[in-house]
Amino acid sequence: MQTITAALLIHLSLLSCGLLAQTPPETWKEHWFEHNQLIKRVFYNNDIAVYFDDQVGPSIAWLNTFVNDAWWHTKRVYGNYGTENRLYAVFHTDKYSGGHPSTYMSSSHDNRNVIDCGPYSWKNGDDHELALITHEIAHIVELSSKNIGGSPAMAVWGDSKWAEIFIYDVYKYLGKNDQMQRVYNIWINQADDFPRANTFWFRDWFYPIYSKYGENAVLNRFYEQLAQYFPKNGNQYSRGMNMGEFVHFWSGAAGVNLKDQATQAFGWTSDYDNQFRQAQSAFPFPYDAGVAKFYHGCPSTGFFAGLPVGDYRLSDMRKKGLHNDDISSIVVNPGYYVQLFEHDNFGGGSMRVTGTHSCLTTTGWNDRISSLQVRKFAG
Ligand SMILES: [Zn+2]
Repeated sequence: MQTITAALLIHLSLLSCGLLAQTPPETWKEHWFEHNQLIKRVFYNNDIAVYFDDQVGPSIAWLNTFVNDAWWHTKRVYGNYGTENRLYAVFHTDKYSGGHPSTYMSSSHDNRNVIDCGPYSWKNGDDHELALITHEIAHIVELSSKNIGGSPAMAVWGDSKWAEIFIYDVYKYLGKNDQMQRVYNIWINQADDFPRANTFWFRDWFYPIYSKYGENAVLNRFYEQLAQYFPKNGNQYSRGMNMGEFVHFWSGAAGVNLKDQATQAFGWTSDYDNQFRQAQSAFPFPYDAGVAKFYHGCPSTGFFAGLPVGDYRLSDMRKKGLHNDDISSIVVNPGYYVQLFEHDNFGGGSMRVTGTHSCLTTTGWNDRISSLQVRKFAG
């Protein structure tokens, strides 16, 4: 029996490798929009395939590395994109304007995740080149995360507002600190005319949410909430969302009611208020998903997870993405506390923490927590 089982397991693992390790074709004839080039594969691995048309120079190392790292980070944060799970990155020079995405859910690009980037030389990795690549990946995330097609929030945030915080996060986690600072300086001062004049999307909405409620974990939770609750037809979202729904879903993602933040960012009309109340009753998820947040770096870097009130043995911690003896900083919302335990099953030494502990080394609890309880203070 043992031998048979082992043979079966080997067979199954070969089969799954075979499915995942499809070889991207050497050439690909474009058949979308006005694109009609015979593009050639210049690089590929298990995560990406890079294609150039004849006007682009030879394979460029920085480009392969950046596309690979950005896509790898995207999958780590937001999950998988289809069985092949690969990004096809197509580059032109001085051809077609801007860029466009496609996803594995669309036959327009042969059911591949695609970023098709038109205008630049791609020689030096200039800011506008990195931004265009990452902007198109942001569209793939909004259009096909959690295996559901369509972007209900595009009706609210337009083409680029989601992409800005997505790009900021990619740069941050890829260690592109100079580029990150430059886009921050641009977007923190940038006003848009929607949903009203002088809306500072980055300054008053996305950056505060990102920095206060768990960075890319809160971004990912938005898509998890959408996939779980927003109306669908099969594997497609069935409609766009209104502003009240938008604030409700982001509140669920952040684990806190964001009405005040929305009021500051967008103003608050009676329409918004009605929509917000209707959304709360139509999609009755709570806003306390992340009252305590855990990080594996000091100070408060390397976000692990936000936890609601509850008891977490080591096995429960692991299900939430937390590792044994690896928590280094904790941020607890007002009105709550976390009881830390040295051993599993709430054993060994223990300490109660409230507020922000940006580095647990000062209390002797760094990399020492093996179970924990998140509790609300009585009254
Ligand atoms: Zn193209």
